[in-house]
Amino acid sequence: MANSPSLMTALGRGFRGACPRCGEGKIFWKYLKVSPNCPKCDQDLAQYPADDGPAYFTILLTGHLVVAPLLFFPFIWKTPSMIIVPATLIPLTAFTLILLPRIKGAFIGVMYRMDVKAADAHLHSADYAD
Ligand SMILES: [Zn+2]
Repeated sequence: MANSPSLMTALGRGFRGACPRCGEGKIFWKYLKVSPNCPKCDQDLAQYPADDGPAYFTILLTGHLVVAPLLFFPFIWKTPSMIIVPATLIPLTAFTLILLPRIKGAFIGVMYRMDVKAADAHLHSADYAD
């Protein structure tokens, strides 16, 4: 990892959907499908096991940044549910879908920088603790 980017650089590149190593190739070939290799620098991108981590952080951020602050506004409680449910769920869904690939990219960037690979699962997974 002599010329590897800093943690924040790798995280930022991943957040933009770019390869954490070179910052040019795209991480995803579909919405959340990770490319096997970076098209620019040929970095093996499929070896980083994001698993449920991005979904967890996306839910955490959405809940803390949007849902919890909304509950402080009285209009949430006073507006009829026929209006408030779609008026909040549609933007929440959009926010979640926009955030999820960015969080997953950032997650892969952090795993790239910290050299956490699927092949090392026996070192960092409780599944193998027995
Ligand atoms: Zn690359």
